[in-house]
Amino acid sequence: MHVYYRKTLGGQLQQLMSPDQNPAEIHCLDESCWLEHLPGFLCLKDKDGHWLRASRNYLLVFNLQDADYLGKTDDELAQYPLSDARALKLSAIQDKSAWHLGRPVKETRIIAGPDMNNGILEITRTPVFGVGQNRLKLVVTGRFADQGEKPESDGLANTLQVCHLNVAFLDANFRISGVNNAFSLLTGYLVDDIENKPLSFMIEGGFELTHRDFINAGNGYFWTGELLCRHKNGQLFPVKLDITGIAKDNQDSSYFATLLDITRQKQSEKRIMQIAHFDDLTGLANRTMFFDRLNQFISESKHRQLHAVVFCINLDRFKAVNDSLGHGAGNQLLKEAAVRLRSLMGNRDVVARLGGDEFALLISNEKAHEQTMYSASLIAGEVLHKLSETFDVNKREVFIGASIGIAIYPEDGSSAEMLLKNANIAMYEAKRQGRNNYQFYNMDHADAAQDRLLMEFNLRKAMEKNELRLYYQPQYYAASRKIFGAEVLIRWFHATDGETKMIPPDKFIWIAEETGLIVEMGAWVMRTACLQLKKWLDEGYGLRQVSINVSARQFIDDQFLKTVEDALDGAQLNGGNLELELTESQLIGDIKQIELQLHRLKKMGIKIALDDFGTGYSSLSYLKNLPIDVLKIDQSFIREMTMGSKDARLAATIIQMGHLLGQKIIAEGVETEQQLMYLTHRGCDIIQGYYFSQPLPVHKMTALLVSEAQTGIEESKTETLFEPKF
Ligand code: C2E
Ligand code: CA
Ligand code: CA
Repeated sequence: MHVYYRKTLGGQLQQLMSPDQNPAEIHCLDESCWLEHLPGFLCLKDKDGHWLRASRNYLLVFNLQDADYLGKTDDELAQYPLSDARALKLSAIQDKSAWHLGRPVKETRIIAGPDMNNGILEITRTPVFGVGQNRLKLVVTGRFADQGEKPESDGLANTLQVCHLNVAFLDANFRISGVNNAFSLLTGYLVDDIENKPLSFMIEGGFELTHRDFINAGNGYFWTGELLCRHKNGQLFPVKLDITGIAKDNQDSSYFATLLDITRQKQSEKRIMQIAHFDDLTGLANRTMFFDRLNQFISESKHRQLHAVVFCINLDRFKAVNDSLGHGAGNQLLKEAAVRLRSLMGNRDVVARLGGDEFALLISNEKAHEQTMYSASLIAGEVLHKLSETFDVNKREVFIGASIGIAIYPEDGSSAEMLLKNANIAMYEAKRQGRNNYQFYNMDHADAAQDRLLMEFNLRKAMEKNELRLYYQPQYYAASRKIFGAEVLIRWFHATDGETKMIPPDKFIWIAEETGLIVEMGAWVMRTACLQLKKWLDEGYGLRQVSINVSARQFIDDQFLKTVEDALDGAQLNGGNLELELTESQLIGDIKQIELQLHRLKKMGIKIALDDFGTGYSSLSYLKNLPIDVLKIDQSFIREMTMGSKDARLAATIIQMGHLLGQKIIAEGVETEQQLMYLTHRGCDIIQGYYFSQPLPVHKMTALLVSEAQTGIEESKTETLFEPKF
């Protein structure tokens, strides 16, 4: 007895009934059980391929034993989840070919035997016609060929017909002379559709092969390539086409071609490409891709007069937002920034995220160097504008800006590395120039970048070497012109080659912020200033407080409160002796968190001043909701102030508004008697500026306090005209 099996989808072998099995063993469910008494199997279909009746064995071949097959076509049954869909689709093609030929068509199929010796299944499709060639029914019968029995026709040809390779035979002119089932299944074409047609007709974009290509291919008598194949339904899909010449003689050659569907491979290649070349978060090109494109551009434009412009864009204040609002918000902001950058650029331009908050653009330009610079500056301007508009992050309005560095090929560098490095140097120059601006690369910047690195190194050393000093700029009551307090301003006395240079804070504070060194430096400022004030107070001088500048990075540091407490405790001072100056831009970020931090400081009796007021974008609601005690009118208003000017009126308005909100007003940068008079007249509370004094080192400040004390004594001998306001 021969036993045959079919392989299930799970890979198990399932027994098919053998021809000599006792029919009595078959459990008949209905009158159709006569079917099961036939040797082999049978299936009856109508003219449109709907199944009318099928024997159990036939159902088993397709794993349809539990399916409700009646009235369904092969294609419909292929949807049945457990079915052998591929076999069913092949069967549909074979049916078509039997109808087309109008005669019985035999197919041989290989089935797995239990001992892994393959058995042979012979299937015959007989189309039945009525009068006038009317299609009636298709009878599909099959039998298991005995083991050892040779298939009727040529074994190899049969195997090719049923094998899973998609095979076509081509004649000497690359015309199709035959295809197998699998080929028809893949392409949708039956042999009759394409017989004698050139293979190129189903290849997208024309495809011409001659016998010579085979020799030229260097692969012996073989040609291979990846192409786009057009399915009968018009759909394109990628294939690998291998063609082997069967005879070497040019005249009588015939060819054997196989098509491999490489859709999946292409998809995963694309995916890998995506991962390797694009930034996950923003979908922009990543650093690798950016370098690829830049290198590509450089090699293409060697012989043409093209310019490439590399923009290196770094978001200002991103770190502050990321630290205070959290990672999620930071990511949201980066995504939005990416969208804005993309919206500004054309399809041929490259927009990349190089990492962190660093973006890059690459554009090419056919114009001369100067014109290229001009267009680059227009683009940079647009980018700055776009990035300085508000960002909605976590339902909060956040402001950031950007610093942009620009390097142009070939003037500013001949390699991708050089260009990006120089654009980066220019970007740091933009940061140094106060951020939210763009700079072109030039050699001076390279020096500046070197300087910056050196500066960073030296700054770390400066703390150890005690090169930092605090200066104090006195602040006076406007009305009484008596001393009130002092703003603490840091200086760096940098000793090199036996020479000491004074470096102003504008030159190094931003580096300290960027490197995080500011936290340690700020703590030192706080401790030193508190100890100094304590000393002055103990000596009986008349100033009430010191005012200390705090940068964003310090303020959001979770150790900040402790630092302040320690400084006060260490000097045995209380919060009332301390004022902290924050700028408006520091109040962006998590407003709840900021509010909490400010309230904690306030609880300690510390006063909060808003520095450089009027230059930022501070909304009135911030002013109303945050516990701010003092507004410091920015120097720029004071400098431009002449009677009746807009700046003068603005200063007056700020004073009035601040007073209405219960705040005190300090004017800084007051240099002339006229400015002082105007401000005093408008009710400004405190005055700071060169008119009274420049920032002074400790010994000079002490001398000033001594002389203040003396005039104080003199005055009290006469009469005090003005009462201090606070
Ligand atoms: P700021 O807080 O706006 O400080 C006021 C600046 O104006 C000081 O510059 C001061 O010397 C200058 N100034 C005062 N009166 C006049 C005047 O009448 N005319 C003119 N033209 N200028 C005047 P400085 O000392 O160079 O400080 C610059 C900036 O560096 C400060 O601006 C502040 O933002 C920052 N800074 C200084 N010390 C520290 C510090 O210890 N920590 C932090 N985080 N920042 C500091
Ligand atoms: Ca200040
Ligand atoms: Ca200021």
